[in-house]
Amino acid sequence: MVYCKRCCYPANTRTSIVFDEQGVCSGCRLIESRPKIDWKEREGWLKNILEEYRAKARAKNNPYDCIIPVSGGKDSHFQAYLIKKVYGLNPLLVTYNHIFNTKRGIRNLTNLVKQFSCDLLRFTSNPESVRKISRYMLKKVGDITWHYHAGIMTFPIQVAVQRDIPLIVWGEHGFAELTGMFNQDDMVEFTKKVRQEHSMRGFEPEDLIQDPESFITKQDLVPFFYPTDQDIERVGVRGIYLSNYIKWDARVQTKLMIEQYGFETAVKRDRTFHLYDKIDDIHASGAHDYLKYLKFGYGRATDDASNEIRHGRMTREEGIEMVEKYDSVRPRDLELYLEFVGMTEEEFERSIDHLRDPQIWEKRDGVWVAKDSVANHVNDEGVDAVRLPLVEDRAPLPPSKQPYYSRDDHIPEDTEYIYL
Ligand SMILES: [Zn+2]
Repeated sequence: MVYCKRCCYPANTRTSIVFDEQGVCSGCRLIESRPKIDWKEREGWLKNILEEYRAKARAKNNPYDCIIPVSGGKDSHFQAYLIKKVYGLNPLLVTYNHIFNTKRGIRNLTNLVKQFSCDLLRFTSNPESVRKISRYMLKKVGDITWHYHAGIMTFPIQVAVQRDIPLIVWGEHGFAELTGMFNQDDMVEFTKKVRQEHSMRGFEPEDLIQDPESFITKQDLVPFFYPTDQDIERVGVRGIYLSNYIKWDARVQTKLMIEQYGFETAVKRDRTFHLYDKIDDIHASGAHDYLKYLKFGYGRATDDASNEIRHGRMTREEGIEMVEKYDSVRPRDLELYLEFVGMTEEEFERSIDHLRDPQIWEKRDGVWVAKDSVANHVNDEGVDAVRLPLVEDRAPLPPSKQPYYSRDDHIPEDTEYIYL
C-alpha cells in the first residue's frame, strides 16, 4: 500500500485521495492552501449571502432566516454561535435523531438550544425501521449507519422546502476536509449527487424498497426521500459550507465552545485519542468506524492523527503511534449494536467478508490479516522533504469539566443508548 508522505492516509481511502509528485495527498494540500487565502475577503462574501437571505426571509414574513442542520456536537455549537451570535440571524436548528444517542449527546443538544436561544425541530425514526435498514445495509454495503447519513443529509432539505427557508448553512465539507475531494477555490455547495454517491453509498430510499429481500417499506424511509427538482427550484434551496468562508480549525473552535459555551467532551474513547468529535452517539464512533477498519484497514485514529499532522500539532511519527494504538481496537459498543440488530459477532463479521479490500486484507489460515500498515512506512523516502513546521501550542485539548459528576475518578462511561 502507498501512504501519504506527510500524513497517515493510505491510497485506498473513501472517498478517494490522490497523491502529487512529492507523494503528498490531496487532503494535506487542501489544509496547506488555507493560510494563503484572503479570509477577510471571503468573510465579506459570507456576510453578503447571509444578508441577502435574511432580507428575503423578512420580506416573506418568515421568522427563520436559514436552517442549520445540527447533531449537538462541537460543529453544531460553532455554527449556531457564528450565525446567531456573530451575524445576528435567526436560524432554525434541524436535527435528524438516529436514536443511538448517548446521554452526553443529549446534554450537548440541550445546551446548544439553551446557549444560543434557537428553535429546534427534530425528527425521530422508530427503532423497528432503523433495525431493518441497519441490518440490510450492513450486508449490502457494510454500513450500519446508512440511516444517519441519509437522515442528516435529507431531512433538513425536506424542512427547507416545507417551511420555505431556502438557505441551509453546513459547517465543514467532511470529504474535502479528510481527503481533499474539493479545493478551497471550488466554493463547493451542497448537492443531491454527493449526498447520494458518498454519504448514502449510492442508494436512494427508492432503491431499498425495490429489493424484495429488504422487507423495507416506504413507511420506514419517510425522512430520506429527497424533495423533487421542482420543489427545490421553487423554494430556491441552497446549501453553503462555512469552511469555504472562514478559516476552519476544529480544535480552535471546539476550545471556544468548551470554555465559553458549555460544550461537554468525552472523557475516554475506544478508537481515537480525540475527546470531542462524534461523541453524541454510540455507534458512529465505535462500531461504524470499526467497520471502516475491517473493510479498508484504517479508522478514525488515522483521520484524527492526519488532521493533527496537517495543522502542525503532531509529527508524522506521533501520528503513526496513535494509529497503531487505536485503529484496530474492537470497540466495546459493538455489543450494543449486535444486541440491537440481533446478530452474533461472527455473523456481523461474516456479512462483510465480501467487502474487505483485497489491497489491504488477506486471509491466512482462515484469519483476516492486514498486509500493510502506515507503521511500516515511517522511514519512506521523501518523508523528511515534505514535513510541516510544528506550531507552538501542540497540547491536546483537555476534556471539559464534567458537570454532572463531582468526582473526576468516577465518571461513568456511555454504556447505553437512549432513543430520545
Ligand atoms: Zn496526507
